[in-house]
Amino acid sequence: MTESHESIPDAPDVFNFIFTALWDTVIRLERRAVTASQNVGKTSQTIYDAVVIGAGHNGLTAAAYLARAGLRTLVLERRDIVGGCCVTEEIAPGCRVSTTSYVASMLRPEVIAELKLANHGLRMIPCDPAIQVPFPDGQVVPWWADRDRAQKEFSRISAKDAARFVQVDDQLKKLARYLQPFFLEPPPEVDTSSLKGWNDLFRIGKRFRRISSVEVSQLVSFLTGSLGEFLDQNYESDKMKTMFLANNVYGKHGGPYQPGTAIGLLFHLLSGGEHELQGFYGHVMGGMGSITQALAAAAQQLGVEIRTSSPVTHIDVRNGRARTVALEDGSEIHARMVFSNADPKRTFLGFVDKKQLPDDFVAAVRAIKMDGPCAKVNIVLAEEPHFTGTSPNATPLERTFYTLVPSLEFAERCYDIAKFGEIPEELWVDCVVSSNADDSLAPPGKHILTCFVQYVPYRLRQGTWDEKRELLGDRVVKKIAEYAPNVPSSIVARQVLTPLDLERTYGLTEGNIFHGDLRLDQLFFMRPVPGWSQYRTPIDGLYLCGAGTHPGGGVTGAPGRNAAHQALRDWKKGRFREVAA
Ligand SMILES: Cc1cc2nc3c(=O)[nH]c(=O)nc-3n(C[C@H](O)[C@H](O)[C@H](O)COP(=O)(O)OP(=O)(O)OC[C@H]3O[C@@H](n4cnc5c(N)ncnc54)[C@H](O)[C@@H]3O)c2cc1C
Repeated sequence: MTESHESIPDAPDVFNFIFTALWDTVIRLERRAVTASQNVGKTSQTIYDAVVIGAGHNGLTAAAYLARAGLRTLVLERRDIVGGCCVTEEIAPGCRVSTTSYVASMLRPEVIAELKLANHGLRMIPCDPAIQVPFPDGQVVPWWADRDRAQKEFSRISAKDAARFVQVDDQLKKLARYLQPFFLEPPPEVDTSSLKGWNDLFRIGKRFRRISSVEVSQLVSFLTGSLGEFLDQNYESDKMKTMFLANNVYGKHGGPYQPGTAIGLLFHLLSGGEHELQGFYGHVMGGMGSITQALAAAAQQLGVEIRTSSPVTHIDVRNGRARTVALEDGSEIHARMVFSNADPKRTFLGFVDKKQLPDDFVAAVRAIKMDGPCAKVNIVLAEEPHFTGTSPNATPLERTFYTLVPSLEFAERCYDIAKFGEIPEELWVDCVVSSNADDSLAPPGKHILTCFVQYVPYRLRQGTWDEKRELLGDRVVKKIAEYAPNVPSSIVARQVLTPLDLERTYGLTEGNIFHGDLRLDQLFFMRPVPGWSQYRTPIDGLYLCGAGTHPGGGVTGAPGRNAAHQALRDWKKGRFREVAA
């Protein structure tokens, strides 16, 4: 081992230490034998300790931690670039866009520090304002990162709401701190028939020992309640409620009055960025791809081999154990452990022969709610978009974020239309003029406008997404023109990514941006499916390491880090060190 496992909670005992040392010797000898046989022209293949399928940010994170612990690790990516849905791509000459994810809000500070991502070029600047909503009456309301400044701004809408904002913010931040520690560890094993299950429950109980009964009821309300009802109870002004809406219910199924939508309020207050700030939102210099470029460079420096244009078709399982990974070109790679960064449906309904899996597990995987409700439209402009109502003194950074959603009722109606398979006439569009935060993204004079769109259906009631792609693009541009009239006439290039494109191009089953909807029955010890939340799977030696696992989607690095640590705990105990028969 090249690195100690300091960050893994259960420290090795003496027995484990001796066992580990012996195994390391055996593996070193075996590797030497394999290399020697390759050298004399025999057909033996390299045997990797770990093969990671997918170079999304979680796959790269997992690979880096595995290599850091001394494991020979290979990453196989189907696309010709690494990054999954955390990439920067050129959509017109010299114009680079974060084509899918576009804001770094929850990237774990631990991952940034432990993998030294700053040394590999990662630089973020805080989004300030973190959110900005232009209203149809021409008022533009920024949500400043500094709380006092935000309160002052909100007092222009309602003095009462501005005062309430501080109390609510304190309450939310306090509750979010209870949840924070769960982010970077496997969820508990809810099994009272095992000692481990009791131990996990005890550990969680200890964490909540100072919680008051009022806080328990607040937590339950946030986990199960609706955002709309929470806002109605706390605020009088529709604009204030819309500010919160714009900041939450992101990428999820359900309008703001659907139970379970309040949870986003807590999610967004988990700390992020290199300085561990609660509620951090960051623009990434060079686009979101700089995160995965830094992860790939860190992983490679630690010894990871990365192969792009290498789609995996199958994981071969013998005697219940993952043994080889088969590629589309017909080649096979031997692995002691296999990690899938692909989503759970793609992994278990695509890569693994279903006969190898328990029927109830397959049924649970099939039932995961996916059908992604989002799309993305990326635009290159010949001039900066001018959003009506923006202060003439606003700096370029302050002219970067504009969320176009006028009210909760608008959002609720939009979801209702989309849930029946229609593309709403009126769309909720989150706009980022990313070239205002980072002018290296476009040649002088040109601008990048990247737009996240919800709600749209994955399954259309009539027609296909190939037929309706440009219609969606047109509706998005029409909505933007209501707020920034100069946009339609200055479009140089436009890329429309429908839910189907997210599936085809980025490998997201049913276009779900989180590898499975973020809803209470698909979170924590129920993610990806109940009974299998600890990154292990019914196949020995096969782990899941992507957003489909706890704590879920978003560019966090948490699933990748957690999965690697879980597997390393197994490895330390001697599991999967022998080559599968
Ligand atoms: C349009 C959009 C906007 C978003 N906006 C944000 C945002 O602003 N902020 C935020 O935090 N999050 C955002 N997200 C969510 C976030 O990007 C994802 O949840 C997260 O990036 C998932 O990371 P991952 O590594 O788990 O999976 P992925 O990024 O999906 O990576 C999985 C990788 O596996 C590869 N793969 C799949 N099948 C195979 C195969 N057969 N062989 C080899 N490789 C394979 C894929 O090509 C892909 O590279 C957005 C997502 C989308 C799509």
